[in-house]
Amino acid sequence: MKPHPDSLQRFLFDQSHVRGELVHLDAAWRAVLERHDYPPALRTVMGELMAAATLLAAMLKLKGSLILQMQGQGPVTLLVVECDGELNVRATAKWQGELEGMSFTQMVGDGRFVITLDPRDGGKTYQSIVALDGDSVAEVLQHYMQRSEQLETRLWLAADAQGAAGLLLQQMPHEGGHGTSGEQDDDMWQRVTMLSDTVKPEELLGLPAEELIRRLFGEEDVRLFVAQHVAFRCTCSREKVGRMLKMLGRDEVDAVLAEKGEVAVNCEFCNHHYRFDRVDADQVFASEVVLGASDSVH
Ligand SMILES: [Zn+2]
Repeated sequence: MKPHPDSLQRFLFDQSHVRGELVHLDAAWRAVLERHDYPPALRTVMGELMAAATLLAAMLKLKGSLILQMQGQGPVTLLVVECDGELNVRATAKWQGELEGMSFTQMVGDGRFVITLDPRDGGKTYQSIVALDGDSVAEVLQHYMQRSEQLETRLWLAADAQGAAGLLLQQMPHEGGHGTSGEQDDDMWQRVTMLSDTVKPEELLGLPAEELIRRLFGEEDVRLFVAQHVAFRCTCSREKVGRMLKMLGRDEVDAVLAEKGEVAVNCEFCNHHYRFDRVDADQVFASEVVLGASDSVH
């Protein structure tokens, strides 16, 4: 049996406040790899961050999108993964030079970890910036969750050229009154995290969620929820690129047009090429001319 492709499985340890999720990315992950030629060392980190982003997005049950950004000071200067509430995911990275044999810490150096929650409905965007604290993607996220959400969260992540996968466990806050006591929950938490520490990357990548849960937590009563589908999807569009050109300003765009005859913009996530010639540029700025007419009188 192989894992269900591109799926996220939520589960709960019965009669406790410990919950979990398993994710397996296949076509969604390969769609990222097909669009850029990432070095193997970077590929592993990106796949892990992509698995982590889907696990967190699913756990937060958000309506908008979650953006995880690692801004490094090493040869890897940027790692970005965006995942929305429907579990549509995209990712990209920027790096320079040779990364072969480098650890996570060597690749990103001292950097920043930026978490953005964009409600996508015009509501307020929430952003948190912390130091890149940890020797792996899982550690950075665990530290962040502990500090910001005050929730004990553990992650186990793996990625190769074919797939990316992850396991998340979290101790939910509880007011008491039903289910187990805090002490029983702590025992459960100790037990299931110790069991999860035995998981191997090849098991995360190669086993179906139900089988992995059975292997790791065979002694526990685990309740499984309906699996959710995960897909690669880029949210770029010609309209958005047009808005970006407007922000850049007419002079800047005209200068590029004069030099190159067109403005070419490449989406870093999906590698889609957008081209704007002079006629297109006139269209982009047409609305601004009307709107800005009164402002232009100095
Ligand atoms: Zn795109």
